[in-house]
Amino acid sequence: MTLSIIKPTLWRQIQRENFTSIQELSEFLELSEEHQSRIAKSSRFALNLPRRLARKMAKNTLDDPLFRQFVPLAEEELNSPGFVADPVCDNSFRKEKKLLHKYHGRALWLTTSACAMHCRYCFRQNFPYESAATDITKELDYLKEHTEIQEIILSGGDPLSLSDSSLKELLQAFDAIPHIQRIRFHTRFPLGIPERIDAPFLALLSGIQKQIYFIIHCNHPKELDADVIAALKRLSKLGIPLLNQSVLLKGVNDDEKTFLSLSEALINAGVIPYYLHVLDPVAGASHFMVEEERGRELIRYVQEHSSGYSVPRLVREIAGSPSKTFL
Ligand code: SF4
Repeated sequence: MTLSIIKPTLWRQIQRENFTSIQELSEFLELSEEHQSRIAKSSRFALNLPRRLARKMAKNTLDDPLFRQFVPLAEEELNSPGFVADPVCDNSFRKEKKLLHKYHGRALWLTTSACAMHCRYCFRQNFPYESAATDITKELDYLKEHTEIQEIILSGGDPLSLSDSSLKELLQAFDAIPHIQRIRFHTRFPLGIPERIDAPFLALLSGIQKQIYFIIHCNHPKELDADVIAALKRLSKLGIPLLNQSVLLKGVNDDEKTFLSLSEALINAGVIPYYLHVLDPVAGASHFMVEEERGRELIRYVQEHSSGYSVPRLVREIAGSPSKTFL
């Protein structure tokens, strides 16, 4: 494959619609002065919140599960032992600027640093992305040389932040590599900006020969509203399997009722709960930490109250292990 340039074009809705000002969001959510004083004064990882998610948040509370996921609290400024910039050592698995090769048979493409929203617990919030327009020849050459790679994982950032034309260029390049069998998207766009799953994007996906998978990252049942479910159905009508991975987050999904309701809302929407991740200890996220044992209790609860296919696997990422570690 000859030289190809992927421009890091942001999908147009991001800049137009999102809250990026704490002051503006505080007014919108009618936060009291006391609540406002609990918000981080300055944050390395900026507020970036789709308006539709803000509209689903309860007013004047810090306890809303969506608020907790997306709004920086003062706790982020704590220096907690063991919470570090790159908790899963991504940088040491970087083979080319946009390519990580960590596990056998799979490689991860860092499409962009841009996301539909900024999640406060994101383990890649400090990652030194290559954000300028980039020649991807070396990345494609690496994939071609490594014939054991059967699956390419589109991550980031969020791959759906790229324009359709950039994504098309990328997907067609993967389609042309014979040993790549599967293309996996990891994305929160269907949850934050479901209108991204529009007719031109679906037409683009339909034109790809390799099997596509979508992994959405849903942490709370409140994220699955009618528009989100409709967007997911549009994807599943193309024969794209939909799976979910959640992160176990204090004050968001660490109680039985919420966790069961998340699993059931997912299977009702045609999404298989796949992983429940223990939090990666990234700096600034210690207030989200939930112990592993609590994760086991929640999994057991779902197992005892719902169908087998609604039970995710509890996992942790341990840098250097040949796979995720099942707990
Ligand atoms: S969408 Fe994913 S990559 Fe982006 S901030 Fe959230 S967790 Fe991180």
